[in-house]
Amino acid sequence: MPEKRDFYEVLGIPNNASADEIKKAYRQLARKYHPDVNRDDPNTAEKFKEISDAYEVLSDPQKRAAYDRFGHSAFDPTRNGGFGFDDFGGAGFGDLFDLIFGASGGTRGRRRSGPQRGADREVRMQINFEDAVFGMEKDIEITRVEKCTTCNGNGAQPGSEIKTCTTCGGSGQVRNVQNTPFGRFETARTCSRCNGEGRVIEKPCKDCRGTGQVRKAHKINVRIPAGVDHGSRLRVQGEGEQGIQGGPPGDLYITIMIKPHDRFERDGYTLITQLEIDFVQAALGDKVEMDLLGGAKHILDIPEGTQPGDVITVKGKGIPYLQSHKFGDLKVLIKVTIPKKMNKRQKELLSSFYEDDDKQNRKGLFDKFKDAMG
Ligand SMILES: [Zn+2]
Ligand SMILES: [Zn+2]
Repeated sequence: MPEKRDFYEVLGIPNNASADEIKKAYRQLARKYHPDVNRDDPNTAEKFKEISDAYEVLSDPQKRAAYDRFGHSAFDPTRNGGFGFDDFGGAGFGDLFDLIFGASGGTRGRRRSGPQRGADREVRMQINFEDAVFGMEKDIEITRVEKCTTCNGNGAQPGSEIKTCTTCGGSGQVRNVQNTPFGRFETARTCSRCNGEGRVIEKPCKDCRGTGQVRKAHKINVRIPAGVDHGSRLRVQGEGEQGIQGGPPGDLYITIMIKPHDRFERDGYTLITQLEIDFVQAALGDKVEMDLLGGAKHILDIPEGTQPGDVITVKGKGIPYLQSHKFGDLKVLIKVTIPKKMNKRQKELLSSFYEDDDKQNRKGLFDKFKDAMG
């Protein structure tokens, strides 16, 4: 038997690789060397086994620690002090298969276990600020895995033969008996030739490359309720991946991302905006027409003596509460502008305003104007 290669070397990763790095390296190599992809090359099957063995050990913290300490002898049942992990391959084959092909495509190895609910899916959807506040309906297109109609899901090119797997005799399981110092162990592992399906396809279906499944674009109508916030998740029942063997479909989750607005912000159900008025309006008070979100007009009452930075609250003109007729408030932050140029008469008028004031008062007022400008 040739010397076993170092598991880290096999996966091409450093000894301190993280769990994610290990998973990533394995996934890439396994896709490349999977026997299903390289049916005619016996060397790749060897290679695939080597990769899988390395991954099985390095992905399990306990086994990895043992391997780091004892090397390959940690898993050699004929040596004293060995851990006897040699038959761990049988347990997680379905999980490994899911890992290689992704949860949605990796259902083949599990077909035998009966109806299963389809996987949930998650998509992100970006919507405008106004659409989030007022609600909207939108058609979105998602792709999902569906049964291939060319082969009716069996993976074989129409007219070609499906043969019983000779490796496992159609059971999908390969039994393995081992004598170890701890006794006789019989383990069953999923047949790697047919991936537990018990049958081998002579000519894989061209449309689905033998998987029995294809990705198809699919339109669904989504109703965004008024008042959704950034990061809200909407559940659309039954629009996830298809179920397996007649199982119900999974759900689709839509995460709402709201584009920022250039004039409005929100804080929960409170809508926030700014309004610029000049110092005369601030000092004397005024009624100012302003645009609400969505384009409606509102006459805002500016009270006499309004200061820069004051907030005027407009009741019920904010964000609608989800599933309710209640509305939050609109808060208007007041900015006061000072004219950069004034004509002679305006200057005279302003100056006369202070004629009866003492110097102290005058200084205070100018400071306020300066603050408003800064
Ligand atoms: Zn097909
Ligand atoms: Zn088989």
